[in-house]
Amino acid sequence: MSTSAKRVLLAIILVFVLANAFFAAYYITLKQSPDGKPSVGPENGTTASVTGQAAYPGQPTQSQQPNGQEQTGIPDPAATEPAPPSTTALPETTVPAPTAPQVPPEETVSPTYIGGILVVNKSYPLPRSYDPGGLTDECESAFYEMQAAAEEEGLDLYIASGFRSYDLQASLYQRYCNRDGQAAADTYSARPGHSEHQSGLAIDLNTITSDFAYTAEGQWVAEHCWEYGFILRYPADKVDITGYMYEPWHIRYLGRSAASAVYHSGLCLEEYLGIDSVYNY
Ligand SMILES: [Zn+2]
Repeated sequence: MSTSAKRVLLAIILVFVLANAFFAAYYITLKQSPDGKPSVGPENGTTASVTGQAAYPGQPTQSQQPNGQEQTGIPDPAATEPAPPSTTALPETTVPAPTAPQVPPEETVSPTYIGGILVVNKSYPLPRSYDPGGLTDECESAFYEMQAAAEEEGLDLYIASGFRSYDLQASLYQRYCNRDGQAAADTYSARPGHSEHQSGLAIDLNTITSDFAYTAEGQWVAEHCWEYGFILRYPADKVDITGYMYEPWHIRYLGRSAASAVYHSGLCLEEYLGIDSVYNY
């Protein structure tokens, strides 16, 4: 073979190799495009893709939602579930629990009132059929009164998440179990029937993040919400008693008299009523 023929042959081989490399790279790029379904991560992909931030596997992504409003027909955990504080080291999340959590038989469940207060926690669930359909009128009007008072101080309070049905809570909780494992999920998300949001008496405010505690709004709420009939339901120093992490954004409507009594007692609701908050199944 002549030298020029060798050169031509080499050139052809080079072009062939480069073309293969190009198409291989192009194919990989296609596979990783944002339209492709990621193999892991948030189920509907909305939160992570909207913000461009990868979701920390142990952390619900709702804190990244700017206004907490649901934007699609699909319930977005951003709008409906609290986020653990960034300082909390959650347990390893590499072993999700894909099995459906057990729930108590429906016929054994009935609402629990203690001293006229509807109790919803890990020990006292609501039946699936308990459905006020939204925040109660009393709770809602108390919130708007509080919101107006805050506004006069130049503060902006808004409802990020109010009423949640049993079924919505069930799907949210299952998602968190699948992603983080049940033990981790139980620290920040209620099992179906055990969410105060099903009572129509609980509200998640503003950003639903632990940072809310350090905002002027968060500090004002902590100091004044009792005047409007609300309590901070999950205080920082009562985690072992309430069974939930500190949630500065979650307020519970009790009515003025009970809220004032609980606030001034320095106790959380479980201590005040002398009850537990522990799952027994
Ligand atoms: Zn809440």
